[in-house]
Amino acid sequence: MPIHPPEPFRMKMVEPIRLIDKEERQSALVRSGYNIFGINAEDVFIDLLTDSGTGAMSQEQWSALMLGDESYAGSRSYVRLAETMKEIFGFHYFVPTHQGRAAENILCSLLLMEGQSVPSNTHFDTTDANIRARKGVPVNLVIDSAYDPNDRHPFKGNMDLVKLENFIAKTGVDKIPFGMLTITNNASGGQPVSLENIRAVSSIYRKNNIPFFIDACRYAENAYFIKLRESGYSEKSPQEIAREIFAYTDGATMSAKKDGHVNIGGFLAMNDEDLYLRAGNELILREGFLTYGGLAGRDLDAIAVGLREGLDEKYLAYRLAQTAYLAEKLTERDIPILNPPGGHAVYVDAKTFLPHIPPHEFPAQALCVELYQEGGIRSVEIGSVMFAHLDTKTGKMVYPKLELVRLAIPRRVYTQSHMDYVAYTFAAIAARKDSVRGLKITYAPELLRHFTARFEPL
Ligand SMILES: *Cc1c(COP(=O)(O)O)cnc(C)c1O
Repeated sequence: MPIHPPEPFRMKMVEPIRLIDKEERQSALVRSGYNIFGINAEDVFIDLLTDSGTGAMSQEQWSALMLGDESYAGSRSYVRLAETMKEIFGFHYFVPTHQGRAAENILCSLLLMEGQSVPSNTHFDTTDANIRARKGVPVNLVIDSAYDPNDRHPFKGNMDLVKLENFIAKTGVDKIPFGMLTITNNASGGQPVSLENIRAVSSIYRKNNIPFFIDACRYAENAYFIKLRESGYSEKSPQEIAREIFAYTDGATMSAKKDGHVNIGGFLAMNDEDLYLRAGNELILREGFLTYGGLAGRDLDAIAVGLREGLDEKYLAYRLAQTAYLAEKLTERDIPILNPPGGHAVYVDAKTFLPHIPPHEFPAQALCVELYQEGGIRSVEIGSVMFAHLDTKTGKMVYPKLELVRLAIPRRVYTQSHMDYVAYTFAAIAARKDSVRGLKITYAPELLRHFTARFEPL
């Protein structure tokens, strides 16, 4: 097999895409307030906004949809999903939710009180916001290597164990209702966490009686990175590795729109019965009955099949290699990226690429705008638009350490020539990058502002 194995599938349905002309792209940008979340998908050529819910389902998943049992309670679809959940994750209980953030909301509503802190390697934006929305404090304790785009640490998503111990000692266990770990670590590069680190984090949380929840969105990609990079795991299957990961935890939140290979769905899983009963009440209030959450029966079936497909080794080998391929093509063209590339996305280092644009003029957002303008490519900013916030104690703005443009690759959707086109578009921007200007915000809501903020070019 070549280093970049070909797609382990072929296509039997096609969805046409088109590149609208330059003037149309410019007016689409103006209409959106220079926020590419506001652009119609029809006007996007290659959509790398997110890998969340944007994947292609398999023939088995489409067939499973037809078997969906829409009974309000105790459907066959739920039973099939519950069996799969038990096999893959091994938790005693779970509730289905419509997305990952609904699972986070339920967890926070049950465990988090005002003023309490939740440590993680790096919280994803929805987790961060769910904690803040309940007046809690999300705390990121990832290893320092994560902040150096050129540090080739094989597990850059790892929690810094010394920072975690110190944080717990300083804060006090009564102020930490639960602890988390995001695998892979989306907000700082889709970087994996090693099993050694997961084991150590678990023992620190357990020693302190802090319940440990994993944000499991990309657990299968993380398991495959462990297989490739961690000694002692090369002969283990992704499924065996996953079981070991979850055995160290007390529960998990997951958006099935990632490694569950579906367009909608998620869950909150746990071992504690009392927590399950309370989660069930919250679920019934906000999502739906215990055996469907916010989903249709057929969605549960698609998740059950998708979770298994997500652990397929041939698929995972192709998946991680496709991401690595895009990273190599960008590197060949001297585009600075976060190294090594993560599982689901390549992150372009906008601070290095556009050094003349300061953080308060949003260099990564400016690069997202250029990518659309130049090639009809949609990406997402993971930088100051997403994470800069006012420190209420000092009254000063706090900016994130990295300004990134994330090129997230939908699962089983784009081919190698689409990736070549993305690299080609970057080269065109690089040739005139000194003329790229920053942006100023003209409107922004208080939480999760990147979704709806509006900008003007400077
Ligand atoms: C997508 C994602 C979430 C939130 O899931 P949604 O289904 O979008 O609500 C949480 N954590 C991580 C790491 C994610 O990537």
